[in-house]
Amino acid sequence: MTSAKKKKEACPCHEWTKEERELPDGFRYHYLQCNGCYRVEYPLAQAQRLMEYAKTHQFMFVSDWILAWMYVGDGVPISGITALQKQLFIILNEFAVENNIVSENPGFRAYKFGPYTETIDSQLEALAVIGLVHSEGRLNTSAERFCLTENGMVSGKKAFEKLTPEQRDKLRDLRHDLQQFTVQGIMTYVYSHYPKYTEKSAVFERTLHRRRC
Ligand SMILES: [Zn+2]
Repeated sequence: MTSAKKKKEACPCHEWTKEERELPDGFRYHYLQCNGCYRVEYPLAQAQRLMEYAKTHQFMFVSDWILAWMYVGDGVPISGITALQKQLFIILNEFAVENNIVSENPGFRAYKFGPYTETIDSQLEALAVIGLVHSEGRLNTSAERFCLTENGMVSGKKAFEKLTPEQRDKLRDLRHDLQQFTVQGIMTYVYSHYPKYTEKSAVFERTLHRRRC
């Protein structure tokens, strides 16, 4: 996993900026974000505070969104990592904002296939390692299918239930809507609505490198 991660590294030397966040209820935390590749890292104490906070308040981590999004599909798998990246981009930039759902910033950056973040790849890999997510089909193509395992369904339900009943209904509708799109359709939507995430840069022209665990 470490070597795979290294190959995906977007800049040789990160330049961190401290990002302070204050939630509507006054809870404050911070994280570090790289000016070059937008990677987000949490100092350990901040990650611990957030995890404590999330036990009693609505706060969706990236892994919660992946699990909830898979759970709400009623057994229909996600078609490939590119689709999952774009779907989560729409969830975080539109759905979570419109429905006031405080969420972890996964650090999307411009990539040749539109917005992309290593965080989603690595969280997905971590969920596979602990046996919650299962994938089939050719790796890194739209033929690859992701779905929840039996244990994953239990965790998916938990993540989904962090949302209010109204938010759950809306997420189900969004899943239904996005399922009608092909991967190309979602990419076209994202390209036209978020042009700043589509800049082609030599630094970002790297091939995804994932391995099945
Ligand atoms: Zn960086």
